[in-house]
Amino acid sequence: MSRLSPFVVVFAAFMLAIGSTASASPVAKPVQSSGFKGFLDRLWPLAHARGVTHETFVAAFSGLIPDQDVVELTKKQSEFVKPIWEYLASATSNNRLERGAKLAGVNDPTLGMIEGRYGVDRSVILGVWGMETNFGGFTGGKDIVRSLATLASAGYRGTYFRDELIGALLILQQGHVTRADFKGSWAGAMGQTQFMPSSFQKFAVDFDGDGKKDIWTNVPDALASTANYLKLNGWQAGLPWGFEVTIPHGFDYHLHRLTFDDWARQGVRRADGEGMPRGGEANLFFPAGADGPAFLVTDNFDVIKRYNNSDAYALGVAMLGDRIYGAGPIRAVWPVDDPILGLQQRVQLQEQLSALGYDVGEPNGRIGSLTRAAIRDFQDKNGLRPDGYAGRRVLEALRVR
Ligand code: CA
Repeated sequence: MSRLSPFVVVFAAFMLAIGSTASASPVAKPVQSSGFKGFLDRLWPLAHARGVTHETFVAAFSGLIPDQDVVELTKKQSEFVKPIWEYLASATSNNRLERGAKLAGVNDPTLGMIEGRYGVDRSVILGVWGMETNFGGFTGGKDIVRSLATLASAGYRGTYFRDELIGALLILQQGHVTRADFKGSWAGAMGQTQFMPSSFQKFAVDFDGDGKKDIWTNVPDALASTANYLKLNGWQAGLPWGFEVTIPHGFDYHLHRLTFDDWARQGVRRADGEGMPRGGEANLFFPAGADGPAFLVTDNFDVIKRYNNSDAYALGVAMLGDRIYGAGPIRAVWPVDDPILGLQQRVQLQEQLSALGYDVGEPNGRIGSLTRAAIRDFQDKNGLRPDGYAGRRVLEALRVR
């Protein structure tokens, strides 16, 4: 699921019902068919100007009517936030690990070639494949043109879906996929990589050289397209995404980003007993606060988040990939009594921090680096361990203020 603008990132997160975010968003209005015809009339000159032929346009929309199920799906936005330990448990379920290990074996030569060409670890490529579509097992059965046309004609999210729809018409016209196979999620994420059409145009590759960028049915194309996406979003070859660590007693929780060498000097150790990487920097990250598991994560961890801007998602990708290649589960115990806050509470947390003068951006419930930095500073000034975790304790401390 490749998304490039912030709202798409948020939207995509609830769209797949993965994880940690849901955002207030407008609901698509039902589309009347007369309105739909008017929409197509207005669309045609725009599509034509971008290179869509009359033949493509007519074939794409022949007999098409809006999909009311897609309209309904825009209304389903759960406030429920799954605790990260439950999310990661399902991301690395036994079924998924077994399927992943089998497909890692079958595709090992291909993965080796892709790793060589793009410099992206095969474990991460498999992790994305598993998280997005259960390794190609579920790519979404919705007609892409119909879904995008429904969302675009309803004016959902401004002109975003209209532009994606035109992109989809160009993909059809270029012959990468047949009209019948042109399927994906209800919101337009396509194939085994779950690319939106705009991401397809930027990142999809024809790895097997048959002239088609086929992310729907061709595994080498799909896996190489994922690797290309990560590479062009800044993946650094040879740098790990990160790993679980242990924190020594008396640790200085103000430390946030250091070189691996300096982390080692501070007494931080890899939980699996291996040595630290030789070069590079990493951030200390507590997905559930300092009472739970701790990780050192590099800039490559942030590159995974370009696929889906969620820490839980990126950890899911990373853990799934590592476990397929034999790593053990997370060793530390999760603090099940202090789950991450729900959406409304996260917005409240940001509003309270904002009222104290912190810059947390627009309070939208997404806990990014600005909010985490503000939490750390607030915790530090109020006698709490500055772990940057948006949990119940820090919200209670803020409310007292
Ligand atoms: Ca191909």
